[in-house]
Amino acid sequence: MIDAKKVLGEFNLNANKSLGQNFLADEKFLDKIAELADINSKLVLEIGPGLGTVTEKLLEKAEFVTCVEIDENMVNVLSKTLDGAKNLSVVHSDFLKFDISSLYEKKTFSVVSNLPYYVTTPICMHLLDDDYAISDMTLMVQLEAAPRFFAKPSDKVYGPLSVMIDYLYNGRIEFELPQTAYYPQPDVRSVVMRFERNSNEYLKGFSRFVEVCFSMRRKTLVNNLLRYNLTKQDALCALEKCSINPSARAETLSSGEFAKLYTTIISSE
Ligand code: SAM
Repeated sequence: MIDAKKVLGEFNLNANKSLGQNFLADEKFLDKIAELADINSKLVLEIGPGLGTVTEKLLEKAEFVTCVEIDENMVNVLSKTLDGAKNLSVVHSDFLKFDISSLYEKKTFSVVSNLPYYVTTPICMHLLDDDYAISDMTLMVQLEAAPRFFAKPSDKVYGPLSVMIDYLYNGRIEFELPQTAYYPQPDVRSVVMRFERNSNEYLKGFSRFVEVCFSMRRKTLVNNLLRYNLTKQDALCALEKCSINPSARAETLSSGEFAKLYTTIISSE
């Protein structure tokens, strides 16, 4: 097993706090996550491999693992710690700029990530912003971020992430990770979540539409729809066709209602 503290010392590096670097360093939990990810003979995308503690476990089971890491220091460390792994490709990139559609020639793949907490929502929205061949996701996030994934209409943290996850995935929180499982230990608690793709068809452009609907949270849906290049009359007409109250706000709509509204709008364009 890769010893995070020792490797940082050997390479004369410190964990970079601003990049969310807390490395999972407890073998029991590394094994638990690899088992939950269920990646036997599968293609895998790992976001933020860091020193490779999770990656090492994934490589034992997966057919192939592609990692995307923003920190050049980590990419250099990985080329030594996981040197010789035939089923690994490390991409040095900000994941927010990474072209997910270029992966695995559209073959189905699994996503695994101990997410950098400062950028959890943008990374997850990127995973949801097009029709990628993702079958499942095993994600570690800060405990406080988990409700954003499972929020229901009118919950305080209900937003585009909750809508897109609910529309495309069946998900649940699997277990909590103690702070002691990391090096260095974070100030916050973490949970591991698991998501499996449901049978809903991906609607091209849907995530951008949902983001526009939430762009001014205090305004009504009609007002936000003006930003989607609709006239007020067209927006009201679409809401009426979907039996949605003309004074509704985005935060009250279910993912199914968003999908119905979106398909109504694009079919009348
Ligand atoms: N997977 C490792 C582990 O569990 O020990 C590291 C997890 S650490 C919480 C998050 C990792 O994501 C760090 O290696 C960090 O450099 C990387 N990272 C941060 N922002 C990123 C971004 N925008 N794109 C890709 N990687 C990023």
